Amino acid sequence: MDRKEAGMISTVLGPMSAEKMGITLVHEHFTFAYPGWFADVSIVPDDFQAALKTNISVIETAQKYGIKTIIDATPNDTGGRNPELYKVLAEKTGLNIICSTGLYWEEEGSPAYWKKRMGLGTDISKMIADLFIKEITEGIGKTGVKAGVIKVGTSPKMSPYEEAVHLAAVKAQQATGVPIITHTEGPTGGIEQADFLIKEGADPKKVMIGHVSGSQDIEYHKTILARGVYIAFDRIGLDIVAPTPVTVKIIADLCKLGYSNKITLSHDTVNVWLGRPYDLPEAILPGFANWRIDFISEKVLPALNAQGVTDEQIKTIMVGNPRNMFLGQ
Ligand SMILES: [Zn+2]
Repeated sequence: MDRKEAGMISTVLGPMSAEKMGITLVHEHFTFAYPGWFADVSIVPDDFQAALKTNISVIETAQKYGIKTIIDATPNDTGGRNPELYKVLAEKTGLNIICSTGLYWEEEGSPAYWKKRMGLGTDISKMIADLFIKEITEGIGKTGVKAGVIKVGTSPKMSPYEEAVHLAAVKAQQATGVPIITHTEGPTGGIEQADFLIKEGADPKKVMIGHVSGSQDIEYHKTILARGVYIAFDRIGLDIVAPTPVTVKIIADLCKLGYSNKITLSHDTVNVWLGRPYDLPEAILPGFANWRIDFISEKVLPALNAQGVTDEQIKTIMVGNPRNMFLGQ
């Protein structure tokens, strides 16, 4: 069956009614690494058990706040997408996990494999669409785990390679009905992405433009929203990208303008980095202090409340919108 039964989504443990998603974080990473990490595995081998332990602890923290579903936004071509890990995590914790098929933006993905073919004149968008569709309908590798979303990303200006990936995402959405979620760089990429995806035939109601706090100009957010897509403030707590009070104010203002039914929230946390640990300069550490799985629940939702966002609107943002994106509503 190519197209899912109405109202059903793929979690890593199998099909589930979208109505059961509950409170959802739309963009996190259980494990992640930038491409190339595998060159360093003699020094830092992948440790499944350690990743399991850390992630169970993080998930239990999220569950204390009623989080029922997490979308892991890790694409195929970075390190860290691990369906076997997701399965065990879902079984052990009861969390609904939805994982991705997709390719990252050119600079931080692994485009060489595709670009070599592109240079020979091959239509890679067809090849990539075939890959996405297979992972959505049959599963990832031999794991039997089906991807539930398509993840794509762009440079500040979309490159020809990224155009091919986005075109593949549209083809895969048209074949399978699953949402497209995105990574943007800088304050302008979201408009270009939304326009490109819609022009090529994506359903705007099944598109979520990510990392929109890359811009702190509400006009940018309103311009994307005018396309009828969802926008994700999905780096909340990553104050080095956008200070939380600024993001909270923008979200509250957008709610006042009637957009609460198009906003989603998440942190873009990485619970386990593969490879060697980062040696972060002390001066930038405060910018990461709030980057944790319970920050939205503990601090940001009350802050939104204090700025006039109602409980009903918060429920729409945390429960209704992620569900409706899967339902195309
Ligand atoms: Zn991410």
